[in-house]
Amino acid sequence: MIGNEFWDLTPLLEKKPPRVKGHIRCPICGSNRMWFKHALPFKRGDNQYRVDVALKCDSCAFVPVFGVHVSEEFYRKVTEAVGNRITYKETGHTLIGGGKSD
Ligand SMILES: [Zn+2]
Repeated sequence: MIGNEFWDLTPLLEKKPPRVKGHIRCPICGSNRMWFKHALPFKRGDNQYRVDVALKCDSCAFVPVFGVHVSEEFYRKVTEAVGNRITYKETGHTLIGGGKSD
């Protein structure tokens, strides 16, 4: 279940952006201001489940996507709560990691 060490996706169940466990920084320009862009829960063909979590850099517009592994139970819960896509429009424009200097 890779990605779970780094991401807490449970806020998605309340239509809030996922929470990063630790610090995040743009690998291109070094900015620590990364916005939540969208999350896409999906089922792979082999009965595995993922949530793609996309961010966007405040400075250079780079968009990294994390493919976070989730359980079938979490997939069912999150798709019941938010459907197959949740975007910054639904969660409010939210900085991931708070944009604090570190
Ligand atoms: Zn950047």
